[in-house]
Amino acid sequence: MGIFSKPRLRRLDRREDMPEGLWNKCLDCGAMIHNLELQQNLHVCPHCGHHFPVNSRERIEILADGGSFEETNAGLISGNPLGFQGYTEKTAILREKTGLDDAVVSGRLTIGGHRAMIAVMDFTFFAGSMGSVVGEKITRTIETAIAEKRGVIIVSASSGARMQEGMLSLMQMAKTCGALARLAEAKLPYISLMTHPTTGGVTASFATIGDINLAEPKCMIGFAGPRVVKETTHQNLPPGFQTAEFMLEHGLIDAIVTRPKLKERLAGLLGYMMPE
Ligand SMILES: [Zn+2]
Repeated sequence: MGIFSKPRLRRLDRREDMPEGLWNKCLDCGAMIHNLELQQNLHVCPHCGHHFPVNSRERIEILADGGSFEETNAGLISGNPLGFQGYTEKTAILREKTGLDDAVVSGRLTIGGHRAMIAVMDFTFFAGSMGSVVGEKITRTIETAIAEKRGVIIVSASSGARMQEGMLSLMQMAKTCGALARLAEAKLPYISLMTHPTTGGVTASFATIGDINLAEPKCMIGFAGPRVVKETTHQNLPPGFQTAEFMLEHGLIDAIVTRPKLKERLAGLLGYMMPE
């Protein structure tokens, strides 16, 4: 029965002497990329152009003029209005793990010298779901923009409404869109940037009603996931369904912008829409 005394097979996909977390495998082309190289390339694969997800802090670093970002409404955390079992504990763990208060970071900044307000959703916190705090912070971001005559940029990455907050979460869709209507009355621009993935109640509210709607290459944009759509409609989905490229072809978005070009494009658009 020698088989039971054999040493266990070592995993072949990980070298023992390689420190963990230094290398990333590109999901698209399979290339191994060093962390530093990926960081210097704004988290875009240097071989195939695949856009790795970035969190809110990294996104702000990419977009803001150096030292211009000033966070607003930090410290807002969600209650548990419905008494949903385990919700309070889950948000507490996520706060600890991510260092974020909730799934959006907002603040003032300049982009290419243009004054704006920004709200960046963060998928690492509760899959970027929108509860009361996300809706409230986005609304306050827009209200500050109106008060200070700034443009608004919202970067979306979301799994949709946060079901643990039920109707209060759905209410944020109307609230954020109402604030954007007031921004439009004040003749101030709103640029929406959709990143991977933008879905559910976020797609169905503020993310798709920008004066200009932008998206990163190949990101998923949709309401329900493709499997749900397929099962509901009993139809085969066309190739490329729910990608940014598909949405561009069908008129939902205005342009796809690669990450290295993003800051320049936003600065150009702000300059065009609100000359100072
Ligand atoms: Zn690649």
